[in-house]
Amino acid sequence: MWILGCYQGVVSLTVDVQWRFASLVAHLILEANRLGYNVTLGEAWRHPVMAAWYAARGKGVRESFHTKRLAIDLQLFRDSVYLTSTEDYTPLGVWWEAQGGTWGGRFKRADGNHFSLGE
Ligand SMILES: [Zn+2]
Repeated sequence: MWILGCYQGVVSLTVDVQWRFASLVAHLILEANRLGYNVTLGEAWRHPVMAAWYAARGKGVRESFHTKRLAIDLQLFRDSVYLTSTEDYTPLGVWWEAQGGTWGGRFKRADGNHFSLGE
């Protein structure tokens, strides 16, 4: 098992959790397709400087799981229409939670296209 120091000693994780997350994301995308969605990939890894920039503007948090390589944002489409409401993401979010993941649709400030392992 490797220990991965992510950036300036802020985060230290075992890389096997990141590997598990990446594999789960593959299943997440396949599940989205099974549910009838098409998917494009949004942000996965976020540099800590960018996370701080977002946080200063009220978008996201400085300690985002994106900085830990444990989160991804997906954009869902149905019938070529980009789905923007959190409710549209609920079936996939519920599935993700059943796998042990955290779905952003449950956040105080809902973030329906956010899927992470942790928070
Ligand atoms: Zn996100």
